[in-house]
Amino acid sequence: MAHALIKGETGEWEIVIGMEVHAQVIANSKLFSGASTQFGAEPNSQVSLVDAAMPGMLPVLNAHVVEQAVRTGLGLNSKINNRSVFARKNYFYADLPQGYQISQFEDPIVGLGKIEIDLPDGTTKEIGITRLHLEQDAGKSMHDQHPSKSFVDLNRSGCALMEIVSEPDIRGPEEAAAYLSKLRMILRYLGTCDGNMDEGSMRADVNVSVRRPGGELGTRAEIKNVNSVKAVQMAIDYEVQRQIEILEDGGKIVQETRLWDPSRNETRSMRGKEDAHDYRYFPDPDLLPLVISNDYIEDIRKTLPELPDEKKHRFMNNFGLSLYDSSVLIAERPRADYYEAVANDRDAKLAANWVINELLGALNKDDKHITQSPITAEQLGGLITLISDNTISGKIAKDVFAEMYSSGKDAATIVDEKGLKQVTDTGAIEAVIDEVIAENPDNVAAYKGGKDKLFGFFVGQTMKKTGGKANPGIVNEILRKKLND
Ligand code: ADP
Ligand code: MG
Repeated sequence: MAHALIKGETGEWEIVIGMEVHAQVIANSKLFSGASTQFGAEPNSQVSLVDAAMPGMLPVLNAHVVEQAVRTGLGLNSKINNRSVFARKNYFYADLPQGYQISQFEDPIVGLGKIEIDLPDGTTKEIGITRLHLEQDAGKSMHDQHPSKSFVDLNRSGCALMEIVSEPDIRGPEEAAAYLSKLRMILRYLGTCDGNMDEGSMRADVNVSVRRPGGELGTRAEIKNVNSVKAVQMAIDYEVQRQIEILEDGGKIVQETRLWDPSRNETRSMRGKEDAHDYRYFPDPDLLPLVISNDYIEDIRKTLPELPDEKKHRFMNNFGLSLYDSSVLIAERPRADYYEAVANDRDAKLAANWVINELLGALNKDDKHITQSPITAEQLGGLITLISDNTISGKIAKDVFAEMYSSGKDAATIVDEKGLKQVTDTGAIEAVIDEVIAENPDNVAAYKGGKDKLFGFFVGQTMKKTGGKANPGIVNEILRKKLND
């Protein structure tokens, strides 16, 4: 897509965005302790002595988390580093009892990679991944529990996060939304993060700047902790306008951290941007460098599922689906699996139409997920077989579908019970057509006199008399023969 440039008063501007996404790793226990990571537990019920930073406690690296990070790196087509180092990032927060966060700085576990994003205009684009590193989450301060006190919940303290950093390749709010959606989809396919932004298991820091098209990178502002795809788009829209106004008035952008305020739909300055040296990073003396072998990496690679983009391309190539249809179908793994079970040995395009337009439409109306579908994949497949072999017409199939959806019955059962089989008996159809012609002499005359449009009227009458069951192809053929004689 030729990305949208913004027209200002002094010329055009190009938007430049890079994202840092924090994704909570799916793991039963924390990055350096055995405490549980279960969401929604009583405050401070899942805090080990390590998480509370009691003196003398030592961190022990969670091997499963390392595996999850490697799996994610492979899913992001990234280089996995054989050696990485945990470092202390020092700062004070009331909900950070250690006084530092254990993170990775110069040597992250995952290096350069890329993902493909799908844009609304039906094109795709590659976005570079800079790195992925592991780090601890902080606890949570609660300021709204008591009129004069603040509380701290350390359940989240020490949970493993992956910070996934993108290159500044994103060129506007749509691309940012597509990037975040695709990233979330990949993590969910991999089973390394649940991607639930409303529970905070995935949060985005959005770096935004503007520049003259193709010019030098502008100074960026970083908008912290934006927690929905929609909010990311709105925050970018706001921030771009703010920066363009400042620049066009002859001002300068200050590099700083800003907050998105969803109640006022604006970003607000939070603090000046710290530089790395302000954190006084140094290798954590309690942890050895993490060394992993190529065999270890290859063993994990073998366990990777087919990822969204591979699936998307396979659906396009093997089933002849459009990019749009494929993108809809691969959006969630259960949805893709359902579709494949329906398409199995059947007309795959027809199957895609029925899954996308009819089934997803009906489920959406009822606020149901595909895993709760009252029609199984096998049942929907049965309906499609009946359409393909001309047992029923596409029009009757819609009624059968509605009945299947409400009753849970098989298509074949409903067709039998209601006598909906398509009439393909040429003799029977011919008899009905003779009736229609006999009953409408005026229209026959008008048609023969040149009113071609009346052909549809005769088709309609014939279908009506057969209760919609006559095979439309045969009806057309016989009518044409009789009327054009
Ligand atoms: P830090 O860790 O201090 O936030 P980084 O250099 O690691 O800084 O960059 C963080 C993010 O900012 C990356 O996603 C990167 O792509 C993005 N970024 C860097 N420069 C710009 C810029 N001029 N405009 C927009 N995004 C940028
Ligand atoms: Mg940052």
